[in-house]
Amino acid sequence: MSPQTTPNKHALVLGASMAGLLAARVLSEHFDQVTLLERDEVWDEPQSRKGQPQTRHLHGILASGLQTLNQYYPGLADELAEHGAMVGDMAETMHWFSYGGFRLRFRMGLPAATMSRPLLEYVVRRRTLARPNITLQDNTAVRGVVTTGDRTRVIGVEVEERGGSAARKTLHADLVVDATGRGSRTPQWLTQLGYEAPPESEVKIDVGYATRLYRRDPQDPNGGDWILSTPEAPKESRFGGIFPIEGERWILSVGGWAGDHAPTDEEGFNAFVRSLPNPDIQRIVSSAEPLSEIVAHKFPASLRRHYEKLKRFPQGYLVMGDAISSFNPTYGQGMSSAILQAAELDQILARRLSPEQLAPTFFKAAARVVDIPWQLCVGEDFRFPQTSGPKPAGIDLINRYVAAVHRATRFDPEVGRAFLKVMNLLEPPTSLMKPGMMWRVWRVNRRHPAKDQPATALPAASAL
Ligand SMILES: Cc1cc2nc3c(=O)[nH]c(=O)nc-3n(C[C@H](O)[C@H](O)[C@H](O)COP(=O)(O)OP(=O)(O)OC[C@H]3O[C@@H](n4cnc5c(N)ncnc54)[C@H](O)[C@@H]3O)c2cc1C
Repeated sequence: MSPQTTPNKHALVLGASMAGLLAARVLSEHFDQVTLLERDEVWDEPQSRKGQPQTRHLHGILASGLQTLNQYYPGLADELAEHGAMVGDMAETMHWFSYGGFRLRFRMGLPAATMSRPLLEYVVRRRTLARPNITLQDNTAVRGVVTTGDRTRVIGVEVEERGGSAARKTLHADLVVDATGRGSRTPQWLTQLGYEAPPESEVKIDVGYATRLYRRDPQDPNGGDWILSTPEAPKESRFGGIFPIEGERWILSVGGWAGDHAPTDEEGFNAFVRSLPNPDIQRIVSSAEPLSEIVAHKFPASLRRHYEKLKRFPQGYLVMGDAISSFNPTYGQGMSSAILQAAELDQILARRLSPEQLAPTFFKAAARVVDIPWQLCVGEDFRFPQTSGPKPAGIDLINRYVAAVHRATRFDPEVGRAFLKVMNLLEPPTSLMKPGMMWRVWRVNRRHPAKDQPATALPAASAL
């Protein structure tokens, strides 16, 4: 150890959801002991908790996220499948209706997974806590950070334990990682300590989800399909996705942008489902037995906190996951972004940087991870005139081209492949702008002008 580095004895991770679990997993390679602090009670079973209400809604894990999870937890995809998750090639399994028809399906070897979010988290949590130097302390709410007298270094946190005495306790650590999600209090804690809060980018979209579970017939030959409907914005604003999950169930989430939300009463919800252009969703819902009430979730805005822009930041402290950036969920990127940030943290810790260098280096790397999903989701969201916030330069022109990409994915597997790689955070959006790809997209659109395209399903890959 060089004289500038701090002892890596104990790390504290605040929040034991996806970002916190992955942070703990990577920190366990670099610290003697890692403690996860979670405000909720955590059961050893797949269950949504109060602190993560979004986990009751449709969740899939993108190929990039699943790939990295498999690196940190070898065999995880198989383990998920054993629990009933659907692990499959998204290019082949997804029946995705968009821009007036179904995107072409083909084999790509790009495994992604659908399951309930609580199941994914349960499997990841079990694997994380199986590591001998990680412990989880639940029922423990973090109320603030503790610093050295000169406030240059975080040395621990103040906690309140549910069911314990009302008095706050101090827990000490060499590194504290805030993974408490979008509601993170770090901006306020920083200002209380005399630092600036990070500048924020907020893009208002007013997206709403409504979700219901249904029984899935194990004999249904299409019971393994992932069925999705996304709008041709701005003339359409509704989405719907029905994915197979463990326990022979379907999970259906429907909703829309700009306040076009689905009602949660039976009749209104069913009418909303019928209004979606993908007929397969309605086909399943009309015959499947509902297994749950209809629950709603509002998502007013994508939010990014630019920690990478701060000139001063206390040592011994980091922030990650939704606490840095929370994206419009309809693109399914949030967990993969958190997982990829954790992988960056792993590499940075391996460099044994000085305490002054750690936070700025990590925040720059995390910003690079976040840039891509942020560009993708914010870019698409600005198709709606109601979207407001910092609008990327030239986005209207880019969106006109990307609309042509969307259309071309209905006819050309090469375009479909390139699009899915970007969407799965495996390639940057610029890969769609290469001259060869632009030429291809133009040619396909010329052959199939938008007005002539039929809204019917195209044959599956196996038939091609
Ligand atoms: C409707 C919806 C659908 C989504 N679908 C997808 C999808 O398909 N794919 C995808 O990848 N992402 C999806 N996302 C995004 C995904 O859910 C988040 O990106 C992900 O949960 C972020 O994880 P996190 O650990 O950063 O934060 P969170 O999951 O928000 O977890 C924060 C944790 O911190 C705890 N906590 C909070 N405050 C304290 C405190 N003071 N002390 C101790 N603990 C505390 C909370 O209890 C919680 O456990 C969706 C989001 C929504 C809203």
